[in-house]
Amino acid sequence: MAEVLVLVDHDNGEVRKTSAEMLNIARRLGTPSAVFIGSNVQEAADVLARYGAEKIYVVADPAVTGALVAPQAEALAQIAGQANPAAVIIASSSAGKEIAGRLAVKINAGLITDAVDVQAVDGAAQTTQSVFAGSYTVQASATTPTTIITVKPNSAGIEMAQAAGTQVPVDVTLSDVATAAKITKSEPRQSTGRPELTEAPIVVSGGRGTGGDFSPVEAFADSLGAAVGASRAAVDAGWYPHTSQVGQTGKQVSPQLYVAAGISGAIQHRAGMQTSKTIIAVNKDEEAPIFELVDFGVVGDLFQVLPQATEAIQARRG
Ligand SMILES: Cc1cc2nc3c(=O)[nH]c(=O)nc-3n(C[C@H](O)[C@H](O)[C@H](O)COP(=O)(O)OP(=O)(O)OC[C@H]3O[C@@H](n4cnc5c(N)ncnc54)[C@H](O)[C@@H]3O)c2cc1C
Repeated sequence: MAEVLVLVDHDNGEVRKTSAEMLNIARRLGTPSAVFIGSNVQEAADVLARYGAEKIYVVADPAVTGALVAPQAEALAQIAGQANPAAVIIASSSAGKEIAGRLAVKINAGLITDAVDVQAVDGAAQTTQSVFAGSYTVQASATTPTTIITVKPNSAGIEMAQAAGTQVPVDVTLSDVATAAKITKSEPRQSTGRPELTEAPIVVSGGRGTGGDFSPVEAFADSLGAAVGASRAAVDAGWYPHTSQVGQTGKQVSPQLYVAAGISGAIQHRAGMQTSKTIIAVNKDEEAPIFELVDFGVVGDLFQVLPQATEAIQARRG
């Protein structure tokens, strides 16, 4: 079976959940190999093997890890040149999509971005995308021997599949232009203690209906171990950080469960959450457009509904 490369999404060796999801997808298409760019591979190697990586290509050159995305695309292109993979799978972050675009040009391969599902159909990768703010669902496959796919978080489950995880150190040759832009300083964002918005299996978002008081939204999110999102109206009002905005001009989320509280459901908001597996809305206006796309809707005041729901969940959890 042909190799399928997965660019490991990690934070200084700590493997993110999306990497396990991508390895699961890779197993549908061929033999998964992880590409680990960075130091601390030791921490990551066991995890990657547990989720199915037969090989782990390791690029530890500081010239790659200390620069922006261009060297990573060059490193991946060199690995792909040797492995001849059926597919290369990359997380659908903004950096991931830039790497994917650069790689596609370098190895002359078809590129599909923002897939929410990938299956093997007649031996080739077939992707599902949700486009035009979720108005259309598109199935696509590339006609080139290698398909590059960026996948959104939560597009696949996580399954254990112990594999060899053989480490293969890779020496890459980088062009001058690839290393022209270097990272001079990088500081992790202060942790909120909640999961990362784009990766969280559950997201609870608040909108203008909160009137600026996000405490019931946060309490409900915490009872579920969820991330907190916000509509643009809420972040533009300064009620919540811009990094929490969900939508066309904010973050794209696709969790198992999305709860919209006091959010009307404008098309630009839907664009960022419509692919969520289950959607619940709490809105006091029964005519709110958000109710057109929900699986469950509660017509009511979020300041009454959310505390009751929080209490019920806490009681169940004991
Ligand atoms: C180019 C462009 C890009 C945009 N990008 C984004 C984007 O990325 N993300 C985004 O979200 N928006 C985006 N917008 C803005 C978007 O069009 C809407 O204006 C915005 O989503 C509205 O936010 P909202 O639903 O919180 O507010 P509103 O539309 O004002 O809705 C508030 C809702 O809360 C309900 N409500 C009020 N009080 C309560 C209560 N106590 N309990 C329960 N419900 C209550 C109301 O019934 C109402 O339905 C963009 C717009 C443009 C033009």
